[in-house]
Amino acid sequence: MSADGEAAMNEDDRLYRFLFEGADVRGELVQLGSLYREVVERAAHPPVLARLVGEALAATSLLLATLKFTGRLTLQIQANGPLKLLVVQASSDGGMRALARSDGELPDSALDHQAPRGALAITIDAEDQNDRYQGVVDLAAGSLAGAIEKYFRESEQLDTRVWLAADEQVAAGMLLQRLPAGEQPSDERDDDAWDRVGYLAGTVKPEELCQVAPTTLIYRLFHEETVRLFDPLPLRFRCRCADGRIDGIIQSMGAEDARALLEEQGQIEVTCEFCCTVYRYDPVDVEALLATDVDRHPPSDESH
Ligand SMILES: [Zn+2]
Repeated sequence: MSADGEAAMNEDDRLYRFLFEGADVRGELVQLGSLYREVVERAAHPPVLARLVGEALAATSLLLATLKFTGRLTLQIQANGPLKLLVVQASSDGGMRALARSDGELPDSALDHQAPRGALAITIDAEDQNDRYQGVVDLAAGSLAGAIEKYFRESEQLDTRVWLAADEQVAAGMLLQRLPAGEQPSDERDDDAWDRVGYLAGTVKPEELCQVAPTTLIYRLFHEETVRLFDPLPLRFRCRCADGRIDGIIQSMGAEDARALLEEQGQIEVTCEFCCTVYRYDPVDVEALLATDVDRHPPSDESH
């Protein structure tokens, strides 16, 4: 485990994309090992919350792989308890982080009981266009997988099926999506494919999703189909606090408040709420930051 907000790439954090040839159906299969364990160990989540965070990490990576552009995707559930907040963020470079808060122990029950009257929001920020899209669905389906299916149906009009699972070591997920009909003449189209591969995929057990190697599992489920498998997408734990965001917090405090806090406490301590990394700034660090901030942003009359 690294001390800062970033981890190395690991072989056990991979998303596989595949296509059923001639069938206008695509699939994704993801397993997260090191990434998932790092997130839940840093936050010391109890088992039920840890599994929900794992499913949310797997779901977010499945969503990320459907993006057609470079950007950032945020999955967020907000509720009034027992689950209070669950946020997973992922960017196109495969970096992911998560934050979860519950009010006491989370019951091992359906999602709409863990998060009554809660909602799932999926926000997509495109990097180049400065564009933001958000879709919100309720949790009436009773599971995160069901809420994601609903999101695709309502926001993109795409039939989608999602399976999610997590044990103590691995979080995993699978997605099937029916694409808008392709270019083939109608007599060559495989109209039964969606129901057929959906039935095959539905035979998967949660322990298979978590424990069987992805390529083996894809073969096991779909060996009667013609499947084209693409190169896997590597994923890793990465928190955006590693980009100097905490420096920005100190700078935005302003010189007067920062110095007053130093006077009182001897140093300034900031804990990243996502990765739980503790950043400590002594007076020399703070003065250096305040000096660079003045260089970058000359004082103005505007106050925020
Ligand atoms: Zn962080």
